[in-house]
Order: sequence, then structure tokens, then C-alpha cells
Amino acid sequence: MLDTIAAIATGEGLGAIGIVRISGSEAHALVQTVFAERDGRSAAEFESRKLYYGTLRDGAGQVLDHCLCTISHAPHSYTGEDTAEFHCHGSPLVLQAALEALFTAGARQARPGEFTQRAFLNGKLDLTQAEAVIDLIRAETADAAQNAAGQLGGAVSAATDAIYDGLRDILAHFHAVLDYPDEEIEPFELVEYRATLADHAASLEALKSTFRRGQILTQGVSTAILGRPNVGKSSLLNALLGYERAIVTPLPGTTRDTLVERVKLGGTLLRLTDTAGLRETEDQVERLGVSRAVTAAEEAELIFAVFDGSEPLTAEDFRVLEAAKKAPHCIAVIGKRDLPQQIDDSHLRAQFAQIVSLSAVTGAGLLDLEAAVEALYAEAPISAGQVLTNPRHVDTVGRAASHLQAAIGAIDLGVTPDAILTELEGAMGALGELSGRTVAADVTARIFERFCVGK
Ligand code: GDP
Repeated sequence: MLDTIAAIATGEGLGAIGIVRISGSEAHALVQTVFAERDGRSAAEFESRKLYYGTLRDGAGQVLDHCLCTISHAPHSYTGEDTAEFHCHGSPLVLQAALEALFTAGARQARPGEFTQRAFLNGKLDLTQAEAVIDLIRAETADAAQNAAGQLGGAVSAATDAIYDGLRDILAHFHAVLDYPDEEIEPFELVEYRATLADHAASLEALKSTFRRGQILTQGVSTAILGRPNVGKSSLLNALLGYERAIVTPLPGTTRDTLVERVKLGGTLLRLTDTAGLRETEDQVERLGVSRAVTAAEEAELIFAVFDGSEPLTAEDFRVLEAAKKAPHCIAVIGKRDLPQQIDDSHLRAQFAQIVSLSAVTGAGLLDLEAAVEALYAEAPISAGQVLTNPRHVDTVGRAASHLQAAIGAIDLGVTPDAILTELEGAMGALGELSGRTVAADVTARIFERFCVGK
């Protein structure tokens, strides 16, 4: 039996409410030890998922807080175990004292993710759902949160379970024919399953291909600001950083002293590289000139090609323009809009689908840049959870697809069924890894369930 774990479940710092959570076979006994319900009811009398008001005390009987307590009975809880929560006043001192009181009573500190790990071990969540919990907590954009919430609801499993079940049926059919030759079971012809396998492979490939968007959701669009010296690249970067600060709360873990700056522009997260932007690298950029810009252009998914609106275009600007066009997406930014304009933008209009005129100094036009980025990356709305964001999922889905392609190739070559079925088992193994379940027991169970062999 697993021991009883306890942790503060709410964020650090002051808050109106803070929650201490416990899970394990002793959870309700621990409640009884530290919590006195106002009307004298014992924890054993508490109904599941109702709030009870009372007094929380430490081992010496000292009152720590007047708070609410709720319990859940196994298996109807998040972890599948007996659980309890204390909804205290959100003081870090009170919460820490409550935790210490629970330790004194016999709980131990939960490890990171241990509640969710227990939920997985107890079959409350599959692996993809368990992984979505942390993705949801860490989401930096509304789309990323929506996608993670969908995955928490089982979207990845829903997309792959049907394929897993389909493969299990094929294997079950094969084994049924082999193991029960006297039963009246439809003859097994792998070639009849070819089209189904091709559909499954295509679905898995399509799912895998969502990862590009998934990376944009979680990592941001890799973006470089290019331009010849003094056009206003650093100013644009600073304006974007300031712009972000003005409209969103800085998120924990977003450091500004690394090579990459994360900026949220509208609903899109950008990973802005400093190759062409930050002042510390300005001399180097000037020295390396456009060759550095070319390298940046090769690595970026999106380029802001910056031109100085207060000057005519120069030969260097044209080299920047050529380098920028190599990226999958680029937006021409004509800066210094607040100064008298000298630029003849007809060349730019001929080369760029999107041109934005802005001033990094006044901030005018930044909304247009936001709209231009949105136009590029606000793809079809996330249909909850169907965008892969986790490399492990991509790996397992990719392996499953490869096994299916190999099986189809083998069918076409007329290879014996057992060799082909090994590929199907490989695909099921990969999908089983994805959701965290096993293969053999499932196959066996399905033989009896689907073919009624034992009748
Ligand atoms: P970089 O070399 O391309 O990074 O350019 P900087 O951002 O360092 O800017 C070069 C010069 O242009 C600085 O003196 C900035 O103050 C000025 N500058 C940049 N953007 C603007 C703008 O939008 N309006 C005005 N008036 N000046 C700007």
C-alpha cells in the first residue's frame, strides 16, 4: 500500500485561499487528527466532496486556521485513493504549518507530480492525460491552454484508441482463426485489412504533422529581426518586449538575459532571437553584416525584415530583403514612421505579402504588426487537444505509423501473415506506450469478447 502524501497545492505567495492536499489510505485518519469540525462530526461521517468548516490544529493543539475541509473516498477521487483538501487562508505560513501538522500526524511530503502519478497508476488518467495536466498548468497562450485542456480530457487517446482497437481486432481475428480452427470464424485474409491499415497510417501521420503547430503553441514561433545597422531592430525588440509587459503579466521562467526573448504578440507566442537585435551584439552584427543575417534567416520560421522609413533603400537593404525571403514567413517592417518618410516602398511591396509601417519610439503600428502575425499563425481554431505538443507523443505516433507502413509494404509483397502481424503488434506497442497500457492482455480479452469463441 502506498503511503499518504501531502503538499501545498496552490501557488507560492499570498492569496485569498491556499489549499493543502493529502492522498493515501491514511488521509481521512489524518483529517481526524488535525481538524475539528464545528459541529463535532468526525471525518468518518463526512460525505464525499462536501465542504466542512472547522479548526485546524498542530500536534500541540495550537490553532493554525479556521478553514474548510473536503474529503473524497477511493476510488472516486483525483488520485483514485482516499483524499482530503484543506482550504485555508492563503498565508504561506499557515499553509506550511498545516503541512507540518500533517507530517507530524504521519503524512510525507509528496514528490513533484506524485498526485497525478498516482492517478495514472490507479487508472484515473492515461499517460497522455497525465502529461496534459502539467502542459495545462504551464500553457502560455490561450490556444496552448485550450489544447492542453483537450488532451486532459483524453483527446490524444481518443485519436489513437480507435486505431489501437482496430489493430487489436485484426490480431484477435488472426489468433481466433489460428487457435480455434473448429469454430466458424470468418477466414483471415490480411489483404482485406490493407485499406484499413492505410487509413490508420494516414491518420497517425496527420496527427504527427500537427506537432509543427504544437511547437508554435508551446515553444513559440522562432523569429529573427533582420535589417542593416541602425534601421531600428533593437528598438523594435525593446518595443515588443515593453508591449508585452504592458499587456500581459510576465510568466515565471521567462528570462530576459538569455539569447532568446519570448514575446506574446496578440495570441501568438514568439521566440525572438537576438541575432540581429540586442545591443550587446550590435558590433558583432555590424561586423558580420548581412552574412549573419543570412544565417539567422536560414534558422528562423518567421523574419521581421526591418527597413528605415526615414531613409531611401540601400544596397544592404536589398541584401536583407533577399535573405529574409528565404524564411517560411516574413513581414517587412518599415520603421521610424514618426519621422519624415524618404523610403520608396514600391520594391518592398513587390517582394513582401505583408508590410507594416510602425514607430518603435511612439508604438504606432505595433498593433498592425500583431495583426500581421495573427494572420500568419492564427490557423483554424484548435479543436480541443488534437494538436500534439509532446515529443514523446510524436515519437510513439511516428513509430506506430512506421510499423503500419511496413505492414502495408509486406502485404503488398505477399509476406506471410505472422511477419506482418509482428508489425501490427509493433504499432500497438507504440500506441500502448503512448497511453500507457499493455498489449497481450488486451488482445486475449478481445478474442473472447468479440468472437464469442467460448460459446
Ligand atoms: P539597430 O542598429 O537596427 O538595432 O537600430 P537601433 O534600434 O539601435 O536604432 C538606431 C537609431 O534609430 C537609434 O538612435 C534609435 O533611437 C533610432 N530609432 C529606432 N527606431 C526608431 C523610431 O521608430 N523612431 C525614431 N524617431 N527613431 C528610431
